[in-house]
Amino acid sequence: MEKETAKETVSKNFIEQIIDKDLEEGKYEEICTRFPPEPNGYLHIGHAKSILLNYGLAQKYHGKFNMRFDDTNPTKEKVEFVESIKADIKWLGADWEDRLYFASDYFEQMYEAAVKLIKKGKAFVCDLSAEEIREYRGTLTEPGKESPYRNRSMEENLDLFERMKNGEFEDGSKVLRAKIDMASPNINMRDPVIYRVAHMTHHNTGDKWCIYPMYDFAHPIEDAIEGVTHSICTLEFEDHRPLYDWVVKELEYPHPPKQIEFAKLYLTNVVTGKRYIKKLVEDGIVDGWDDPRLVSIAALRRRGFTPESIKMFVDLCGVSKANSSVDYAMLEYCIREDLKMKKPRMMAVLDPLKLVIDNYPEDQIEYLEVANNMENPELGSRKVPFGRELYIEREDFMEVPPKKYKRLYPDNEVRLMNAYFVKCTGFEKDENGNITVVHCTYDPESKGGNSPDGRKVKGTIHWVAGKTAAKAECRLYENIVDEEKGVYNKEDGSLNLNPNSLVVLKDCYVEPALAEAQAYDSFQFVRNGFFCADCHDSKPGEPVFNRIVSLKSSFKL
Ligand code: ATP
Ligand code: MG
Repeated sequence: MEKETAKETVSKNFIEQIIDKDLEEGKYEEICTRFPPEPNGYLHIGHAKSILLNYGLAQKYHGKFNMRFDDTNPTKEKVEFVESIKADIKWLGADWEDRLYFASDYFEQMYEAAVKLIKKGKAFVCDLSAEEIREYRGTLTEPGKESPYRNRSMEENLDLFERMKNGEFEDGSKVLRAKIDMASPNINMRDPVIYRVAHMTHHNTGDKWCIYPMYDFAHPIEDAIEGVTHSICTLEFEDHRPLYDWVVKELEYPHPPKQIEFAKLYLTNVVTGKRYIKKLVEDGIVDGWDDPRLVSIAALRRRGFTPESIKMFVDLCGVSKANSSVDYAMLEYCIREDLKMKKPRMMAVLDPLKLVIDNYPEDQIEYLEVANNMENPELGSRKVPFGRELYIEREDFMEVPPKKYKRLYPDNEVRLMNAYFVKCTGFEKDENGNITVVHCTYDPESKGGNSPDGRKVKGTIHWVAGKTAAKAECRLYENIVDEEKGVYNKEDGSLNLNPNSLVVLKDCYVEPALAEAQAYDSFQFVRNGFFCADCHDSKPGEPVFNRIVSLKSSFKL
């Protein structure tokens, strides 16, 4: 039978609709997008959205994707960030091939563009102070006042601008301004400053320049020089678009790029601001910019998130013009979905209690065949050692069980996962009343955890054989901020920290196969969640695991 051809039901987002139209109208032959970070910090999950959006569009339309460092502001930028940003984008899978650019390489062209505006009578050198410029600017309800320097002659402007470049003027004493409209309802159009004097060393151009272009002037030029067609940015730049359009029009670029704004990605109760993260790092509250409790891309990677899970998350969030905030649980849902079929399910005991099988031969170790992932047979199986002394989770034994408790308690029989049925015969306590050892007997006929005679056990618990176990450290995380109180303290604006955001368990026992885990290797630990070997602290023989996410959640799509 012939299948009905699937209708084109996949709806396109508003940016794709704009691109479709531009291509149909022949505005551009091929599209080109870019990701333009300022190298002044680490990238976070919000940037991932922008990266994957821009790269994804270039892929989808067989266009180009440019990686450009927007490094026109020498004060805050650092080479260290250039490298971390490149690594993060590569990891996410966005490939800029040989299209790596630095806005600072265009300083000469930007200078010439400014000269061109002066020659067209569209820019002037202004001697007002920053304070005065603000006063003259007017307000949302009142028009601005023209600068007394607005009508300088073209020759004088050219001369002054050149002398600005030559270092004849002090910082802040002169600026170059676009000559647009002091009465414009859009304040960004009231003769905006496009160049300032700043005697500063730039990480790329050194001391060559002492004038630097402002963002609103530089960005459209960068886009135009590179042949970017769709310059995608976030909503706060919507009011700057008329200025963007003015710059590309006055500079007469043959195929002017267009700016399109979309809503930023916000996560509820999550800290993304550079300022706050910097303080957490400096105060030693977190272990660097990649502390697994943060949502920088480096932190998510260290925690054990995958590029696929982040892509899935970003896709689920969609692209919109309206600001909204997404729950962190959705990101957790995505990593769970990504890992559940891909990763082996291993046994690890986080809070160990010794279990002795008194009728099991003293020195015997047997190797049980265990499927690596019951839902995915392709992952094969492994041999897990079993012996007389085991570790089980402390919470899997109770001296006096509450109703409905199905795990171990005196006289109760349970299944040791993949191994045997065992029946609790007793336990020992120390002088403080803490249970130190649980005793049981096993039924040799129940090998593999199968009932020998049709008798049922209600509980199944996991275990690690004592003799061959590897010791491991496991780190459990909660939100770094207190969700009840909200992210920010209402009084002083500081963060409301959650004191339980990190729990370190140093005496966990894991099956021997986990002892050699390599950095970033991840696994499902039965009942306890997905874990990833920490890239800084885990060593062969002394593994350290970060919990990526627990196994269950009330989150529903
Ligand atoms: P932040 O202030 O959050 O650190 P930023 O805007 O200063 O970010 P840039 O380096 O200027 O960081 O941003 C690079 C690109 O990433 C820009 O195109 C910007 O629009 C985009 N971007 C930044 N934050 C988000 C976000 N939360 N969601 C989507 N895109 C974002
Ligand atoms: Mg910025």
